[in-house]
Amino acid sequence: MSDTIFSKIINREIPADIIYEDDISLAFKDINPQAPIHFLVIPKKPIATINAITEEDRLVVGHLSYVAAKLADEMGFAEEGYRTVMNCNEFGGQTVYHIHLHVLGGKLMGWPPYTDKPKPLE
Ligand code: AMP
Repeated sequence: MSDTIFSKIINREIPADIIYEDDISLAFKDINPQAPIHFLVIPKKPIATINAITEEDRLVVGHLSYVAAKLADEMGFAEEGYRTVMNCNEFGGQTVYHIHLHVLGGKLMGWPPYTDKPKPLE
């Protein structure tokens, strides 16, 4: 798989505002925040999309939610609530092809999370 900007962040080749790291994952602030709190939790293993998750990746992917909840608790916004999102491919709005869990908080989230746009014609 080709290197993404997130591999470069893991390898410290480009800077990021890293807030958490362990053997499996890394969390850092989103460069273009969509909420007062917005950070990403990523696996160190480069998995391109949700579609590429294998059976052996299950614990790694579950770990991302564990880290999101742990950080929400430590940062003090777990009780008021927050949203986690993982976008997949074009229609999901994915732009970086290394899976990442968005953690958004600090404001009341709207639902549904999309603006109504028709599916493009074939
Ligand atoms: P997605 O559109 O779901 O693939 O999300 C990619 C996210 O990565 C976006 O919210 C970007 O703002 C964020 N992003 C891209 N480059 C960086 C970077 N160098 N540091 C932090 N966040 C980034």
